[in-house]
Amino acid sequence: MIKSMKTEDVVIVGGGPVGLFMGLCLHHLGIPCTIFEKRSKIISDTRSLGIHPVSLELFEKMGIAEDFVNSGIQVKRGIAHNGEKELGSITFEGCPPPFNYVLINPQFETERILREKFMERCPDALIKGAEVIALNQEFDHISIDIAMGGKTESLEIGYVIGCDGKDSFVREASEIPFHGKRYPDTYIMGDFNDSTSFGNDGVIYLTKHGLVESFPIPDKKRRWVVKTDEYISEPTPEFISQIIEQRTGNQIDHQSNSMMSAFGVQHYLAERFVKDRVILVGDAAHIVSPIGGQGMNLGWLDAWHLANLMSFCRGISKDLPIADLFVYESKQKPIAKKVARRAELNMRMGRKNKIPGFKKAIATVVSGPAFQNKTAQLFTMRGLESWWI
Ligand SMILES: Cc1cc2nc3c(=O)[nH]c(=O)nc-3n(C[C@H](O)[C@H](O)[C@H](O)COP(=O)(O)OP(=O)(O)OC[C@H]3O[C@@H](n4cnc5c(N)ncnc54)[C@H](O)[C@@H]3O)c2cc1C
Repeated sequence: MIKSMKTEDVVIVGGGPVGLFMGLCLHHLGIPCTIFEKRSKIISDTRSLGIHPVSLELFEKMGIAEDFVNSGIQVKRGIAHNGEKELGSITFEGCPPPFNYVLINPQFETERILREKFMERCPDALIKGAEVIALNQEFDHISIDIAMGGKTESLEIGYVIGCDGKDSFVREASEIPFHGKRYPDTYIMGDFNDSTSFGNDGVIYLTKHGLVESFPIPDKKRRWVVKTDEYISEPTPEFISQIIEQRTGNQIDHQSNSMMSAFGVQHYLAERFVKDRVILVGDAAHIVSPIGGQGMNLGWLDAWHLANLMSFCRGISKDLPIADLFVYESKQKPIAKKVARRAELNMRMGRKNKIPGFKKAIATVVSGPAFQNKTAQLFTMRGLESWWI
C-alpha cells in the first residue's frame, strides 16, 4: 500500500534518468517527493552514452560526480575523418576544468548510479512497478490513480512532474499538444570489441556514402553508429561491420558484437511545459535528435532549473505560487529549441552531400585555430542561454 500524502507533496511520474535526477535535485533542495516507475525490472537501456560537462557540473553540486567519473570513459578529443584522411580534430581540454571532456557511460549504468544515489538518500521514495493510469487536476490539488500489483490506489497531491518519456501519459492526460516531426534520417548502431587505434578519442567519419560515428565504451569496446538510406528493422552484426569497412576501412570482428539496434530520428516539443499543477521535464517535454547526444543532458538541465525554482517558491509559501512555475517554461523552452537546432545541424553534416569538398571545408574551418575552442564548447552544450546558435 502506498502511504498517503499531503496536498503540498510532489510526485514524479517516471524513474528514468531524468525522473531520478529530478528526485535527487528536489531532495538536495529539501523538497520531499515520491517517484512512481511503472517498470518493476531494470532494463539494459543502451540508448545514451554522452554526459556533457554541464551535467557533470550539476552532479558535482549534488555530490555524485565522482561515481560517474569513476565508471565512465573520458573523451577529450573528437576527430573528423572522410574515410581516407583526417580532416581535423577538436580537443575539449581547453574547456573549463575539471570536466574538460565528454564522459561516456551507457544509459543503464547512468540509471544505476542515479537510482542507487536516490535510494540511498530517499529510502522508500522510489516505488517500482507502479504505473500512473489516471490524472485529474482539481482546484487546489491533483488526484492520480496508480496501478500496482493488480490493485489501483488513488492519491491527492500538490504537484505532478511528468518525467515519463516521449509517450508521456502525464502530457496526454493533461491534454498538452506535442508538436513536431520525424526526420527522414535513419541509423543502425552496434557495440563491438575495439580493434582500432583510436584509444579514448571519438571519431566522426563524414564520408561520401554517409556518416559513421565511433566512440569508446567500457570493457574495451566501441560503439559504431552508421547512417542508412532507409530504416532497417533487424540489422545484423555482419551487415553493420561490412558498411563500416566499406566507408572507413576499419575491420570489425562481427562475432564480438554485444548490442545491435536501429533508430529513426524525430523532433517534438510540448506546447506547454507547465499546466496548472502539472510540469513536464525531459523527453516528456521535448525530443531532440540523438545525433550529438544531448536529449538526456537537456532533461537534467530542466530538472535542475525546476528544482531551484520550486525551492525558491517554497521559501515564499508551502503551496507553491503556480504563476512562478511558468518561469521554468519561459526559460527551458527556448533552450530546448536551441538544442534541437544544434542537433539538426549535427545531423545535416552526416547526410550525403552533392557539393564535393563541402564537408572537408566546414570540418577544416570549425576545427581550425580560430574556431577550435568555440566548436568544442558548442559540442558540449555551452552557451545555451546566451549564444545565438
Ligand atoms: C539511439 C539514442 C541515443 C541517444 N544518445 C544520447 C546521448 O548520448 N546523450 C543524451 O543526452 N541523450 C541521448 N539520447 C536521448 C536519451 O536516451 C533520452 O533523452 C532519455 O532517455 C530521456 O530520459 P527520460 O527520463 O526523460 O525518459 P525515459 O528514459 O523514456 O524514461 C521514462 C521513464 O518513465 C517510465 N514511465 C512511463 N510512463 C509511466 C507511467 N504512466 N507511470 C510510471 N512510470 C512511467 C518509463 O518506464 C521510464 O522508466 C539518445 C536517444 C537515442 C534513441
